[in-house]
Amino acid sequence: DLSLEQVSEHIRWDGAGLVPTIVQDAQSKEVLMMAYMNRESLRLTLESGETWFWSRSREELWHKGATSGNVQTVVSMTYDCDGDTLLVKVNPNGPACHTGQTTCFHNEITVPGQQSEPANQGTAAESGERFAVLAELEEVIAQREIERPEGAYTTYLFDKGVDKILKKVGEEASETIIAAKNKDNAELKLEISDLIYHLLVLLQERKLPLDEIMGELSRRHERPRRD
Ligand code: AMP
Ligand code: ZN
Ligand code: ZN
Repeated sequence: DLSLEQVSEHIRWDGAGLVPTIVQDAQSKEVLMMAYMNRESLRLTLESGETWFWSRSREELWHKGATSGNVQTVVSMTYDCDGDTLLVKVNPNGPACHTGQTTCFHNEITVPGQQSEPANQGTAAESGERFAVLAELEEVIAQREIERPEGAYTTYLFDKGVDKILKKVGEEASETIIAAKNKDNAELKLEISDLIYHLLVLLQERKLPLDEIMGELSRRHERPRRD
């Protein structure tokens, strides 16, 4: 890794002292926005660990999320082969676009032979890979129910029985609501993860395969299914 001074030398600042900067979600890989950095915003970004830009319209330094709360925590930064573009991978605390959309790139242009692909999402294969974790979790939970390894939280839930599982689903749903009301996306992410995990435990307890849920969602969404 290079220091700010060293990095600065490798960047081809334009006539106005700016460099286009692409912001990408470090987890989903979605391209979120493009904005300009100058030397000062690059320094502030490296120093604070959150994205700072130069607003050309307002002609001022701009801490992304300063008013909306949708700050972007920097995970990594790179510059391209010829140093005329920066790439920042971030964990966003909310939508990147001031319109409230996850990504600024939401204005679809129809191109010939366009594959039907839901806006703002990766390819089917990519999202399939991301959702594979749900199927894996379902398998682990099924194994826990059979083997009941000592000390595992899932074992504890199955030992306590369905009422305990239902109570947890209720609690996690309430905590999800509170996190959303507090506009705390870091917390919301954790609570929804807890809720989904407990829902999977409930599905196992009821012997209802996750695939049934996926099938129902697909049918409602009127998108072709693989089977
Ligand atoms: P924020 O930085 O999210 O607090 O937003 C403050 C202001 O910055 C907004 O009212 C917009 O004018 C502008 N802004 C925010 N996000 C973007 C973006 N992704 N692209 C361009 N302008 C933005
Ligand atoms: Zn380039
Ligand atoms: Zn936007």
